[in-house]
Amino acid sequence: MLVYIKIFLLALLFSIVTCDTTNHTENSSKKGNDNAENETNNTETTAKKQKLLLISLDGFRWDFQGKTHTPALDKVVKEGVSTEFVVNVFPTSTIPNHQSIVTGLYPENHGMLDNNFMDQSSGLIFKGQPDVEWWNESIPIWIENEQQGHKSGVAFWPGYNVKYDNVTIAHLPSDDYVAPYKWKDGKVMSIEDRLFLTMNWLKDDNVTFVALYCEHADETAHNYPPDSNLTENVDEMQKAIKKVDYMVGWLLKELEKENLLDIVNIVMIGDHGMIHTSHTRQILIDDYIDSISTVRYIGGFTNIFYYTYPNSTDEVYRSLKKASEEENSHFKVFRRIDIPEYLHVKNNKRTADILMLPDPGWVVLNKKSNMPPYLKGEWERGDHGYDITERKMSPAFYAIGPSFRSSFRKRCIKTVDIYSLMCYILDLKPHMNDGVFGRIKPFLQDFASQRPEDTINYSFADEDDPIKCY
Ligand SMILES: [Zn+2]
Repeated sequence: MLVYIKIFLLALLFSIVTCDTTNHTENSSKKGNDNAENETNNTETTAKKQKLLLISLDGFRWDFQGKTHTPALDKVVKEGVSTEFVVNVFPTSTIPNHQSIVTGLYPENHGMLDNNFMDQSSGLIFKGQPDVEWWNESIPIWIENEQQGHKSGVAFWPGYNVKYDNVTIAHLPSDDYVAPYKWKDGKVMSIEDRLFLTMNWLKDDNVTFVALYCEHADETAHNYPPDSNLTENVDEMQKAIKKVDYMVGWLLKELEKENLLDIVNIVMIGDHGMIHTSHTRQILIDDYIDSISTVRYIGGFTNIFYYTYPNSTDEVYRSLKKASEEENSHFKVFRRIDIPEYLHVKNNKRTADILMLPDPGWVVLNKKSNMPPYLKGEWERGDHGYDITERKMSPAFYAIGPSFRSSFRKRCIKTVDIYSLMCYILDLKPHMNDGVFGRIKPFLQDFASQRPEDTINYSFADEDDPIKCY
């Protein structure tokens, strides 16, 4: 209930302060008034509905572009919009961030608290299952696009195959393929086939929204840590970045060939960055607590959610807190009620009893969970999930198309603002969300006549926000 009250109050505040989100229709219709002197062009613009291709660059850190030759991304930066980095959501994990991109909500409001978490009332564990009961605290944009009279296509975005509100979306990949996040064995569709699929969907006049998932940067950066000096790691990382760049270049060429460049907008955003982790920076939690007898479920090892047994919360917290105060402890610990507000993860019924936050680059192991085999013996990895204030957790953002300004770069963008940006372009009525339209106006061609600093409403500055991004 608290969550709904909070969302309602947020929406009320937005509508009182600026009407930015709720006045979306008014902003859209203003486009026509501004162009009133050129009626022919205006009619053409109305007839040709804008489309949006949303691409997830999983694990594509904000600085990956500079690590090798990337002609296609360079072109997007030059002719479109970009930011130095993205302020993503906590935990800096795949599912929470993907869901925030397509709903504009923080994890405490969309309910997908991590890649794995526990529903305390049923005792069930979420491990990526598409059952709608896990996902239905929010609705993604591709469903709303269908509900508002248009067609969507989604190629493997996390939650792509969830049956929200029993809506069947126009285009999904065949069931012969599994999602490429490797949570389930099966055949993964090649990125080339995914590109053909999305291009075909975009050619359908009725399709206005397409989402595409691309795992290459994430997969490689986990196995070949991005900041390592080892030649093999550097080479593999460069190959993955080039593959992403090739994909972007291919899409731009195909869109040009199909005469779609004047109606298709491309938004590319990563879900998180990556940091070097190693067996030399491990914390074994059973040195401090008996995880078998006191904790029902432990989620994660870079951000750790402890679901304790009734009556053992105090004991676990006190032991961890004491350990965290020791010299060289390398972690912080919070009871649910004390989790910092800016993490936006505490106000949900699924929130764990205790959150443990290791220093970036440290991992926390325990006897309770079956830890992945790569965390045994000596190992070097790339990983994510840590606090959003660690810059290595930040992903990249690029966008190009008729709705965007040219050669515009801003310091940062918030993941929760992407949803209202997309709703504006697609002329969709957005649901109440945590994004602020005023923060993304500077990226849009419709507001190009205004100086970026004049389109920003500083009253949106969040007092508790450690990374100001307006
Ligand atoms: Zn990811």
